[in-house]
Amino acid sequence: MSLLVVGSVAYDSVSTSHGSREEALGGSATYFSVASSYFSEVNLVAVVGEDFRHTDRNTLLGHGIRLDGLETAKGKTFRWKGLYDTENVNNRETLDTQLNVFETFSPKLTDNQIKSDYLFLANIAPDLQLKVLEQMNTRPKLIALDTMNFWIDDHRSRLTDVIKEVDILFMDQDEIRSFTKVSNIFTAAKKVRELGPRIVVVKKGEHGVLVINEGDIFAAPAFPIVDVIDPTGAGDSFAGGFMGYIANSNNTSPESIRRATIVGTVMGSFAVQGFSIEKIQSLNNDEIDERFRGMVGITSFSALANEESLINFSVKQN
Ligand code: AMP
Repeated sequence: MSLLVVGSVAYDSVSTSHGSREEALGGSATYFSVASSYFSEVNLVAVVGEDFRHTDRNTLLGHGIRLDGLETAKGKTFRWKGLYDTENVNNRETLDTQLNVFETFSPKLTDNQIKSDYLFLANIAPDLQLKVLEQMNTRPKLIALDTMNFWIDDHRSRLTDVIKEVDILFMDQDEIRSFTKVSNIFTAAKKVRELGPRIVVVKKGEHGVLVINEGDIFAAPAFPIVDVIDPTGAGDSFAGGFMGYIANSNNTSPESIRRATIVGTVMGSFAVQGFSIEKIQSLNNDEIDERFRGMVGITSFSALANEESLINFSVKQN
């Protein structure tokens, strides 16, 4: 089934305790596309500047990513600069965001793209996300959305308009608290679900993910990674694995959503093992399967049999 993503394609300058990279290929749609490309054909809609490198275009094409919707405009490619805390890799500061060619971008979908079965509105201006939504010919089977503080803080009302239209919202725990102004994650997810999305996926970094899907609540830990090189793009790679799996299986049942969550977790865990897309661009199917099996290993435990109880001990009264 066809999968369409709109989001950023960027040059990122990132510094972590493991080193730094200047102007490396990044962006929400880039991470998403590369991660999903292992599972499904993906169409990317974004804009880059005249400075976008041929080698980067070839890397994306090499993954079978359809670039008919990647426009080249006059000006510079989106730039983002992030600095990670050397003591705690979960803390990062955005030092600079330059929208550049995204400031005037207006996506125009092709006749094929407007018929996509699955749509991912990756982190980008809510106005652009809405412009893509408005062009869809028929409603996709599943529309998912991701965002970040940059848009929550300054474009809340437009962001709320998009959230009302989607089936799945991906947000990290700080973002959902900031968006809903509620600190309890379950109450925050309930508030989001009242706006429209039936599934809320709360990302908790190294502590995994919580999926609130109507009556079904599913929690998955992160795959244990000792050497986190660069967490940039983990959330987008998670979404790429998740949506790529769903588009390929064409199944949105609660059981399939659970499996997609683990596929997402697997792809997110690879993303943090390298700067930029260094690690996720060179995986093989066996590595992905092996890590998925590893996830089964760390999450399975024996259930209580019928009539069995954990409590077979009684306190003796003196
Ligand atoms: P994540 O680590 O999942 O939050 O994603 C980081 C990626 O998002 C980087 O590759 C950035 O280029 C991209 N990014 C950062 N800020 C923005 C923004 N305001 N809009 C769109 N993409 C962004």
